[in-house]
This record gives sequence, C-alpha cells and structure tokens, in this order.
Amino acid sequence: MSLNRDQSSRLYSEAQQYFPGGVNSPVRAFKSVYGSPLFIRNGHGAMIYDEDGNQFVDFCGSWGPLILGHNHPVIKDEVIRTIENGLSFGAPTVHGNALGKIIVDNHRFIDKLRFVSSGTEAVMSAIRLARGYTGKNKIIKFEGCYHGHVDSLLVKAGSGLATFGVSTSLGIPKGFIDETIVLQLNDLARFEEVLASSSDSIACVILEPIPANNGLLLQDNNYLAWLRLLCDQYGVLLIFDEVISGFRVGFEGASGYYNIQPDLITMGKIIGGGMPVGAFGGKAEIMKKISPEGDVYQAGTLSANPVAMTAGLACLNICLQPDFYQDQEKRTKTFVRKIESHIDAQGYDMHIPQIGSIFWLAFGKKRIVTPDDINSDSMGLFKELHRYLLDHGVYLGPSGYEVGFVSMSHTPQLLERSAEIICNALDHIFKR
Ligand SMILES: *Cc1c(COP(=O)(O)O)cnc(C)c1O
Repeated sequence: MSLNRDQSSRLYSEAQQYFPGGVNSPVRAFKSVYGSPLFIRNGHGAMIYDEDGNQFVDFCGSWGPLILGHNHPVIKDEVIRTIENGLSFGAPTVHGNALGKIIVDNHRFIDKLRFVSSGTEAVMSAIRLARGYTGKNKIIKFEGCYHGHVDSLLVKAGSGLATFGVSTSLGIPKGFIDETIVLQLNDLARFEEVLASSSDSIACVILEPIPANNGLLLQDNNYLAWLRLLCDQYGVLLIFDEVISGFRVGFEGASGYYNIQPDLITMGKIIGGGMPVGAFGGKAEIMKKISPEGDVYQAGTLSANPVAMTAGLACLNICLQPDFYQDQEKRTKTFVRKIESHIDAQGYDMHIPQIGSIFWLAFGKKRIVTPDDINSDSMGLFKELHRYLLDHGVYLGPSGYEVGFVSMSHTPQLLERSAEIICNALDHIFKR
C-alpha cells in the first residue's frame, strides 16, 4: 500500500514557482528521502493530516516546539482570546511580563532574559553580547552542533590540523569564518590546548549541551562540567544553545538536567508553544550589557508580541505541572525499549539513543558521541525506513540525521502501536 500524494505533489509543483526549491526551509524539501514533501492541512494531538487525507502519528512535532502535541486546546483558546485585542503593538504588554516571570521564577540559571522571534536570532544576539561583554572576538563551536543560520556559525572543521574552519554556505565572508574556531566534541585535551594558547582572543564557547541536530550526540555530564570549569579558568563565556533542549528535558533544559550553570542560554522552539519565539538570557551581570541598559544593541519589531507570548505562556504553564517531565520520559522510554528489544532479538545493527522525550534511530551498535561516529552509509537504510513508515502512517523528520520527539499527546497506546509499526519497518528494511 503506497501513499496517495496527488494533492501534495500538485501543491509542491505550484510551490516551486514561488519558492527556491519549493520550500521556505531546506530540510522540508525531502531531499534525503523518497518522494516529495507532504502538505499538512491540520494537526490534532499526536496526529497530522495531509492534503490528500492521509493521517500520521507525528514524531517531528514541527521540529521540536510541540511538546504538548498539535493544537493543544489551552494554547488555542488563550491565543484566540489574546488575538481579540490586537496582534502587535511594539510596546510592552502583560503577556511578555507573564512569560518572563514564569521563566525567571522557575529557572535557576536565568536571572534576566530578552525575547526575540527565532532560535537563530537568539544565538546571533547571545554571541554579540558575549563579544560585547568580554571585549573579545573569537568564538569556539563544535562540529555536529547546529545553531541556526548565523553567518559565523555556518562553519565546519577544516581538514587536518587546521584550527580554523571552512564555511558550509556561500555568502559568508572569510573574515567571519576566521573568527570561529571549530573543535570536536568530547575532546577535552584539544579544548584546553586552544584555551591555553588563545583565550585572550576568545569571547565564548557555544554548544548544544544535548546535540540533537546531527543525530543525538549525547555527551558525558563530566565532559560538560569540565568545559564549564575550563571556561571559568580562562575567562571565556560558556553559552548553552538550548533551542532544542530547553523546556524539553526538564523546565531548566540541559542546564538543569546536568546541573551546570552556563553564562548565557539561548532558547527557542518550545518557548513559543508553536509560535515564533526565541530568547536569550542568563547571568544578570552579563544581561545588563544589552541595550537600553548597556551598549550591546539588540532589537525586534515583533519581539515579545502578545500573541506569541500567550502561546508560550500557555505551553510552559502545562510543562510546569507536577510530573510532566517524568511522565514524558517514562512514555518515551517504554516506546524506545519496545523497539530496542526487537532490534536485539533480531540482531539488527542499530540502537536508539534517548534522553527525556527525544530519541534517535541510530544505525550501528556503537555509542555515538561525535559526528564521526555516524555511519553515513546507513542513510540509504533510513530512506527505505522513512518510506515504509509514511506508507504505514508514521511521520518522522525527512532525514536520518533528525531526532524524533514524543509529545504529551502521544498516549501509551499510540506509542505501543507506533513501536509495532517501526518494528515492522525494521523487519522490512533489514530483510529485504
Ligand atoms: C532549531 C535550532 C536553532 C535555530 O532556531 P530557528 O528558530 O530555526 O532559527 C538554533 N539552535 C538549535 C540548537 C536549534 O535546535
């Protein structure tokens, strides 16, 4: 049984006339899997429905924001109520205060924050702040961490021992790239060497404490704690990019999960409950450098607009309910264990890294900590897996490097059924 994609195919051809590659964000184009993108008409709870009337259990969750599932009634009602009063004023509102308060009151490591409208904007602003605060220019990033489409972060490691990277996009001046040092995750010796030789010129280190944009590259708590220690020792700021992990593995994100205090934290995705919201925040002493209090400029026409703030507040209020995160983790673990026991019983060459409600279907048995550990040859298998799953009503992100997300709306029954379908899909791809 193969999916009827007539409407989606027609709409995708139409979209090609308007948008480069027919999309407004590249991974949506289904370049790494079979077929063309599905046009989604609506979503409800854990389910999405496309323009051909197909339905899917959604494990993509709009790439992370939808920790409550689609169209959660509380978010919907609150947003509609706020909309009655207008969409944006470019002036302070009670809604911004309310979302600010709930975050500052419930996050040990955020004294002050500023709202923006995307994760990319949060990262870009946090880096400017780190540079403004320290008076230094260079930044360290890690191979395998994604931080949005910020110019100076679209960089990968150069070949051999070259310290400076090469850009991963056209249009980025070499001068920007020269300010970025790219290192490997989980290599503390090299990290210390670079700080020891160059900390005079390094403003900050940025990483995803739970790297989840290039597979799920779970790091050791000790490694992260050492990064913190060395940054302090050498006078370099530590930025945790928690656009994915924030409010996902706990209300305090990875910082709380590992109990490590970064100097600045960037947030996005869940913080807006499905609306465009990002934020950066952290130590008061650093945040006070942001204009108008300080001289690091940062602004936004639609920043903290009341509708987006309302969606974020409704979402985070539910996240704060007792046992919310324990329950998320429990359901996700049961789901992952069911698939893993099938993998083990059948001897398939795979495993499933998982943390909180994030999971990743990883090919190979070896623990994966850096991008080098990923077997890129296996992505052909992922393509087959993806096709089978779409045909059988399970929607994963359209690339083997994307993680899956479980939401509050994924009931144990739905997860059990989805796990069965995934097990069947594995039988299909490994026994073909
Ligand atoms: C998604 C993501 C970003 C970019 O956020 P956008 O809202 O897409 O600009 C930055 N950093 C991390 C860790 C992300 O997962």
